[in-house]
Amino acid sequence: MAELYQHRARKRFGQNFLHDSGVIDRILRAIHPKEGERLLEIGPGQGALTRGLVASGADLDVIELDKDLIPLLKLHFGLKPNFRLHEGDALKFDFTTLEVAPRSLRVVGNLPYNISTPLIFHLLEQAALIRDMHFMLQKEVVERMCAGPGGGDWGRLSIMVQYHCKVEHLFNVGPGAFNPPPKVDSAIVRLVPHAQLPHPARDYRALDRVVREAFNQRRKTVRNTLKTLLNADDIQAAGVDASLRPEQLSLADFVRLADRLADIRTLDGEQP
Ligand code: SAM
Repeated sequence: MAELYQHRARKRFGQNFLHDSGVIDRILRAIHPKEGERLLEIGPGQGALTRGLVASGADLDVIELDKDLIPLLKLHFGLKPNFRLHEGDALKFDFTTLEVAPRSLRVVGNLPYNISTPLIFHLLEQAALIRDMHFMLQKEVVERMCAGPGGGDWGRLSIMVQYHCKVEHLFNVGPGAFNPPPKVDSAIVRLVPHAQLPHPARDYRALDRVVREAFNQRRKTVRNTLKTLLNADDIQAAGVDASLRPEQLSLADFVRLADRLADIRTLDGEQP
């Protein structure tokens, strides 16, 4: 495709196009799209993954921000009845406009690394619509998503992703698979939203606040980082040792702290 259309990769759109057919096949095998499924690809670029997704017979929507890539995508896939192109910013995209059944949408993408974290938070808000997600991300971001408590990788991203989803680090991809090659290693991750949340918070906004606040200063004790939200008695009542550091707490600990915050704020008539 690249020979037909000379597109210069743009850094500001995080463009690193996949060109290694072995890697492309491996990703498509991991996704295993099937006829009749609803798929959404974020950032199709020059169509490296799109081609296989369309060929599977799945019903594919794609969102691409770079206007210069739109004619190429239309040229190659525009006549396929199972392909719909949305020109715009995936960060602002309203997924409910796709009118998919709950837990049916399969989201895929070799994501632009500069926006991958906010994009994943945006998608988590729609977790109820999503069956699974397969993303190429910076390897270090995948490691943070999969991390458990006790280490430096455990933080807001790990907790909020694991609150909603089961996370699997599938395989790593070196820079040579892309054009231009990125400066970092990449990895493919699979996220599957839980059918039932293992640790449901009474108020999700309270969880978001507690986790943000806790990791704003991850070197301090929980007592210190959370002092504007919860006092030492509240932390103890949630069954958490206030002398620990945030990175030593589990997801269940954070949910109990969030529930305590929600209780206090409800009693005071405030929003968590
Ligand atoms: N899927 C292609 C591939 O694997 O070769 C392209 C991947 S490239 C890393 C990221 C793609 O996302 C580019 O096509 C870029 O223009 C697009 N993109 C960047 N920011 C975006 C956004 N906010 N919304 C939708 N697409 C975006």
